[in-house]
Amino acid sequence: MKNKFYITTPIYYVNDQPHIGHAYTTVIADVLARYYRQKLGDDNVYFLTGTDEHGVKVAESAAKQKITPQKFTDNISQQFKDAWQKLDIKYNDFIRTTEDRHQKIVVNILNQLKQTKTPQGNDVLYEADYQGLYCVGCEKFITEAELVDGQCPDHKRKPEKLVEKNWFFRLGDFLPAIKKAIEADQLIIYPPGRKKEVLGLINKQNMPDFSISRPVKSVAWGIDLPWDKEQKVYVWVDALSNYITALGYPDKELYQKFWPADIQLLALDILKFHALYWPAILMVLDIPLPKGLYIHGFFKINGQKMSKSLGNVVSPNDLVKQYGSEVTKYLILSQFSFGSESDIKINDFPAKYNADLVNGLGNLINRLTNMIEQYLDGDIGLTKKDLEKSLNISKFLSNINQEIEELNFKLALLKIWNIISTVNEEIDKNKPWELAKNNDQQKLKKLLQDWTKYLYNIAVSLQPFMPQTAEHILKILTAKQIKKPVKPLFPRIN
Ligand SMILES: [Zn+2]
Repeated sequence: MKNKFYITTPIYYVNDQPHIGHAYTTVIADVLARYYRQKLGDDNVYFLTGTDEHGVKVAESAAKQKITPQKFTDNISQQFKDAWQKLDIKYNDFIRTTEDRHQKIVVNILNQLKQTKTPQGNDVLYEADYQGLYCVGCEKFITEAELVDGQCPDHKRKPEKLVEKNWFFRLGDFLPAIKKAIEADQLIIYPPGRKKEVLGLINKQNMPDFSISRPVKSVAWGIDLPWDKEQKVYVWVDALSNYITALGYPDKELYQKFWPADIQLLALDILKFHALYWPAILMVLDIPLPKGLYIHGFFKINGQKMSKSLGNVVSPNDLVKQYGSEVTKYLILSQFSFGSESDIKINDFPAKYNADLVNGLGNLINRLTNMIEQYLDGDIGLTKKDLEKSLNISKFLSNINQEIEELNFKLALLKIWNIISTVNEEIDKNKPWELAKNNDQQKLKKLLQDWTKYLYNIAVSLQPFMPQTAEHILKILTAKQIKKPVKPLFPRIN
């Protein structure tokens, strides 16, 4: 029986402003964290997010703005915090890789890597020349095979030939153990297609070792390599370690309580680093692997690939401005399943909003509270205890909970909305206004009570997704006198 839950998003790279892709991952983490807080208690859930703040591109962007890299990262990481606040994201901690608390532990980790041997008895780290083609846009070396017309396909720029001294991590020696862990689902990789992909990578058996440091002259903005002042730590040991540095690895209470992570969310483009580099680093440290990596794909916007050059990058702030945080989350999560083709059809949002929230949930709240007010003087005759006893009516909640635990958010919402439709149809069918006219009080009250119980269950099931809406509904239903809301929860948009 699981009694704690630790969930992470990747730390977002500050060379980019928050967009809908970041928002999606963070909203998913928020839904799961809220769900498990209800199930396990606040103290037993930890939700970590943050920003990745080192590297060449950050220094370049800062120089362009004529500010220091630190100032630059301060600005952008604040934008991420602001965006999450607007979306009503309730994280436990926000880690920044430029923070002292992070950098100190990274240095400890590096020293451990340096002192440790691989299972085959080799040094984990070794120094060597790296020569290759380097794309400044990607901030990584790319292979001939990846080039299109001699250019990086993502950045449409010619890579530079580069020879330099690096410290390398001997990845190959860890691959057999990683493969075993993935095959046995000790390290779950979800969805299954991604697991296959990772195993395919390992089986190709030419997975190169990876650089953990680069010369200061190439990367000036980063953590010093403790034993070689000519080198700065390069991306992965710095960035991936955040998942344990934030908890205070190796001896703080949070770390003891919450590691290993239960769910690490990430996008497809960083799968290899999380599924191969990260477990290898953890094996050197001799600590458990995360239980699961959950991967989502890239986003389309209205059927088009999202890209800066197409000018269709969507900011979560714009959606929140238009729809509010609650509706924004609903509209995104109800459109596609986690891990599948992700097309955010923003053009469909107004129609979906009117159909599901105005005519669906909003209408149910309005007409039910209105009838209770009109026909029963606002007294439904159910105590809070009665309502609590009605929880999981017809196994409704256990059904939804199962979908949430399996990350089937679209299906969970669909099931909630099916109940909303059913209750709305029941109201139409039973015509309570005629019962009122014919003075059939007993039947009328019984029906209104049943529907109230359903609405109570609906509100509870919505808590992880739409916490403010859920709270609002619960407040209405548990008030001494039930009243129709003065302003509709979801005003119609044209
Ligand atoms: Zn590139």
